[in-house]
Amino acid sequence: MRKYFIAGNWKMHKTVAESVTLAKDLASGLKDCGEKIMIAPAFTALSAVADAIKGGSILLGAQNMGPEEQGAHTGEVSVLMLKDLGVKVVILGHSERRHAYGEDDALVNRKVRLALSHGLETILCVGETLEEREGGRLEAIVGTQIREGLAGVAPGLLDRVTIAYEPVWAIGTGKTATPEDADAVHAFIRTVIAGLYGPESAKKLCIQYGGSVKPDNVAQLMAKDNIDGALVGGASLKPETFVPIAKFR
Ligand code: PEP
Repeated sequence: MRKYFIAGNWKMHKTVAESVTLAKDLASGLKDCGEKIMIAPAFTALSAVADAIKGGSILLGAQNMGPEEQGAHTGEVSVLMLKDLGVKVVILGHSERRHAYGEDDALVNRKVRLALSHGLETILCVGETLEEREGGRLEAIVGTQIREGLAGVAPGLLDRVTIAYEPVWAIGTGKTATPEDADAVHAFIRTVIAGLYGPESAKKLCIQYGGSVKPDNVAQLMAKDNIDGALVGGASLKPETFVPIAKFR
C-alpha cells in the first residue's frame, strides 16, 4: 500500500509558544498515523518545534532557504543552519516566493541543488496562475518550472525530491482543482520527469497536490492514481483540520 506524504506549511503564522502547542497536539493526534508527515513552522520556531517533536515520526520542514551555504547574505537562512536544527525537508519555489518575492526558476534551482547536496529532501513547488491556465499555457509553465528547477540534479538524487503541484489560483482561496484536473496535471508532470529521468523514476516520484486541501476534499484527491500526498497551508494550522487530513483513510 502506498504511503502518502502529507506536509503542513505554516507560513508566517504563530509565535514560538503557539507553534510548540500545535506541534505537540499534532504529535499526539498523529502518533498512530502511518503516512509520511512533515510540518514547516516559521524559522523562528524551528528550534522549539524540533524539541517538541523529538523522538516521534513527524519530520521537521523549513519553508525556504538561502541559495548560498554561508556568508554575507543579510536576512537569509542557510542550509547548514537548517540542518543544525534538525530540518529534514525544505519547501522551495513556493508560489508566494515566486510571485511576491520575485524568485525565478534559476534561483529556485540553485536552492534545490544546494539542499540536495547537503542531504536534505526538497519539495519543489510548481503551478500556474489562472491567467496562464486560461491562456492555455499550463503545460509550458509547469514544464519549464520542473525542467529548470531540476536542472543539474543527478538521477541518484531524485528520490529526495517531491514535486508539489499547486495551482496558484487554488492557494488560500478555497478553490480546489477537481481531483480529475489535478490528476491530469500530475500525469503531465510524470511525463516531464520521464523525459528527464526515464519512466521508472517518473513512476516512483512523489507528487503532492496543494491548494485549499481540507478534511472534506482530501480523500477524493488522494484517491487519484497520480496524487501521492498533499501540501497543506491554511488547514495545517489547526489540529482539528490537519489531523483528519493526514488520517484521511
Ligand atoms: C500552500 O501554501 O502551499 C497551500 C496549499 O495553501 P492552502 O492550503 O491554504 O491553499
